[in-house]
Amino acid sequence: MTLPPKEIIRALKTLLGDAGSLISDPAEMASYLAEPRKRFHTPAVAVVLPGSIATLQALCRWANQHRIPLVPQSGNTGLVGGQVPLRGDEVVVNLSRINRVREVDATAGHMTVETGVILEEAHKAAEAGGAMFPLWIASQGSARIGGVLSTNAGGVQVLAFGNARELTLGVEAVLADGRLYRGLNALKKDNTGYDLKDLLVGAEGTLGFITAATLKLFPIPEAYETAFINVAGPEAALELFYLLRERTGMRLTAFELMPRFGIDLQLKHGMLLRDPAASLSPWYVLAEVNRMKGGVPGALQSALEEALGGGLVTDAVVAESESDRTLMWAAREQMSDVQSREGASIKHDVSVPIAAVPRLIAEGAAAAERIVPGIRACPFGHMGDGNIHFNFSQPAGADGKAFMAGAEPLHAAIYRIVGKLGGSVSAEHGIGQLKTDLLKQVKDPVALEMMQAIKAALDPNGILNPGKVLG
Ligand SMILES: Cc1cc2nc3c(=O)[nH]c(=O)nc-3n(C[C@H](O)[C@H](O)[C@H](O)COP(=O)(O)OP(=O)(O)OC[C@H]3O[C@@H](n4cnc5c(N)ncnc54)[C@H](O)[C@@H]3O)c2cc1C
Repeated sequence: MTLPPKEIIRALKTLLGDAGSLISDPAEMASYLAEPRKRFHTPAVAVVLPGSIATLQALCRWANQHRIPLVPQSGNTGLVGGQVPLRGDEVVVNLSRINRVREVDATAGHMTVETGVILEEAHKAAEAGGAMFPLWIASQGSARIGGVLSTNAGGVQVLAFGNARELTLGVEAVLADGRLYRGLNALKKDNTGYDLKDLLVGAEGTLGFITAATLKLFPIPEAYETAFINVAGPEAALELFYLLRERTGMRLTAFELMPRFGIDLQLKHGMLLRDPAASLSPWYVLAEVNRMKGGVPGALQSALEEALGGGLVTDAVVAESESDRTLMWAAREQMSDVQSREGASIKHDVSVPIAAVPRLIAEGAAAAERIVPGIRACPFGHMGDGNIHFNFSQPAGADGKAFMAGAEPLHAAIYRIVGKLGGSVSAEHGIGQLKTDLLKQVKDPVALEMMQAIKAALDPNGILNPGKVLG
């Protein structure tokens, strides 16, 4: 039995004392409850900001005893509503005050940072030590390590370095009953039973509070070779990917696909001051290759010359300055935002085996056109990872609200194609509260039972992010 809100607030005041901040005024709570997509608007009983791990442990012990639901929150940039309340009786636990960089060992290739460290600050800490932490996402100025790990975030260099899970060596976490799991280590090899780190990373706050992590670091490249490449379509892009991977191997760090439609929108809405492309083409690829100290320059250029000679690529521009490179990346990173300037849009964050990406795009665009004639497909993203953000803009001049009201058949069609191609309905952003029903429909029933058993073992009273992921 949970307590009435007034008693919860009174108890939290006593519990936190000077060791944490408590916010219970609705106006002051607003910024913690508003998430980026503005889809979820449930109130909370309170927002708390523990100032130490010991305080967080005491909070969990008390919440577990009284069955008070807790919602872990870090940077509040999540796109599936995992970090905001679902029922209205929750206490949001914002972890931004637990934010020390504990250790950076650039030479050995790891650092240990606490949950509240902003991703960009983690990059800077690694760089100050002479190394690179290669997890870049557009929200890195606000997203924090705890949230980045809990969503197993990806980004633009997964191709070479993997997502958050692959970049994590060890984690420390507070469990639902307040116990501290001390799993920080810098071991590449550790075969001592179940991989608890991999369980906590990507759990979206349903299994424990990640309080710190030991992360992998890499040498800083001496230079980047970046190109904006014209291709006839996703089939040609796939062939180009195979060729570049063969010629540049692990140095190929990004391979991003974009339709001309998205570039035109950015030029129309003043988000790009000039066109990053060499010439008009229905599709483009942004490819990037890292060059390490002592490496031979021109690997990307010579692979592109070969592709041009073979007709795989129709034109290309290689960045000659940092501002060229910035322009190319801006064109890629603004692809999603620009759609909101063009009216309503319906989005899907999906992945398929890389060889199936052209079929996904062709079949998805055709199905969408049958459902909403005139719909404008804008599929783009991390093609090298098989991860496409399959977005659609409303038909020009259509009513945005009516377009959004008809989203369900479109979702069903895209997810059906994804399933048929052996893909995933959430490549990067997770399940949160947005996709719980969908997960039940598409996930293997035995996998769901295993997930429920793990949840019941680690959080028997169901106080951690109730209703998220498993519904
Ligand atoms: C503009 C923009 C661009 C983005 N680009 C990408 C991208 O390229 N790739 C990508 O993968 N994502 C992307 N995202 C999504 C989002 O930024 C990531 O999911 C990010 O990793 C979330 O970090 P956060 O600190 O904001 O977490 P939050 O939003 O606060 O939380 C996210 C989830 O993690 C849980 N959680 C938070 N902290 C903890 C903790 N310490 N312990 C346990 N659970 C916790 C929450 O309960 C919630 O379920 C983008 C978002 C925006 C707004």
